[in-house]
Amino acid sequence: YVIGQDKAKRTLSVSIYNHYKRLNYQPSNKNDVEIDKSNVLLIGPSGVGKTHVVKTLARCMNVPFAIGDATTLTEAGYVGEDVENLLLKLINSADGNVKEAEKGIIFIDEIDKIRSTNGNVSITRDVSGEGVQQSLLKMIEGTTCSVPPTGGRKHPEQNYIQINTANILFICGGSFTGLTDIISKRIGKGSLGFHVKSTEHNKQQEFNEIIEQVTEDDLIEYGLIPELIGRLPIIATLGELSEDEMVEIITKPKNAILKQYQKLIELDGFSINFTENAIKKIVKKAVEKGTGARALRSVFESFMRDIMFNLLDQPKGTTYLIDADVVDGTKSIF
Ligand code: ADP
Repeated sequence: YVIGQDKAKRTLSVSIYNHYKRLNYQPSNKNDVEIDKSNVLLIGPSGVGKTHVVKTLARCMNVPFAIGDATTLTEAGYVGEDVENLLLKLINSADGNVKEAEKGIIFIDEIDKIRSTNGNVSITRDVSGEGVQQSLLKMIEGTTCSVPPTGGRKHPEQNYIQINTANILFICGGSFTGLTDIISKRIGKGSLGFHVKSTEHNKQQEFNEIIEQVTEDDLIEYGLIPELIGRLPIIATLGELSEDEMVEIITKPKNAILKQYQKLIELDGFSINFTENAIKKIVKKAVEKGTGARALRSVFESFMRDIMFNLLDQPKGTTYLIDADVVDGTKSIF
């Protein structure tokens, strides 16, 4: 399901495996070893699989899973979502079974957007994001929270659901735009060959080599508070996808976009094939958009829409070949 990103996949599988080992572990006496929670911080550019890898894992593990967006969260008392709403989502994903939800996984995306900074002036939320980071600390570490069963703001007359977060695995993710500048300043740019003529390929490799070297200090400089970093002891980085990996994403997984379109068309009694150049063209166009694999679907949609609209007027059983010009929109297959 997830192409490339081998290091992140390894890190995540080990930490999730350890997490569930920890849940089943019963210290034999009070002097026995205590195992800490291994919450994870996922760092990598947009559209390279951060959400996808976590979602896939949660599905394979068959555990309750909820995704939240740090930018919608606010400190208690401000307009926006309370952090407890994330827990409500998790309880809902466990069909209301709180005991099950207490063993689930919560993914908090866009964690980099709540960095402490003085620039982000807005009236409806706290200025720097630091307050939101503070309000996440207890929940991530493990505490008993009172969740209003209907979500939204707390009302004193509501019956709260009590949920303990000590065994919930928290995975935070973010693109951390600009983080590589901080890292390269620290390690000294020259060593990574910035003076070498930059091709797309070089740039991608350089980026991946730099991001891998992230340290906690870099993240503090970026604007995460040390207390939050301390509660996310496992850091996994995801690199930019290479063009070859994008080709694989289109063609390999069970739910690969290309297979999905082929199936949709087959259901109408036609078939389509793609030339190698067509696939390369799709990848090139997606790379230009700079949103990783996320752009692939919209590139497909841009040329498949008209094909699918006109297809039913064609004689059934026809096989069509999509080449690079069709992808470009300069040629019609009919
Ligand atoms: P982000 O890193 O911003 O969280 P996502 O995980 O949401 O990005 O990726 C967007 C979409 O792109 C996913 O739903 C998935 O279909 C596809 N995708 C991204 N990276 C990969 C990958 N490494 N392998 C397979 N599909 C991927």
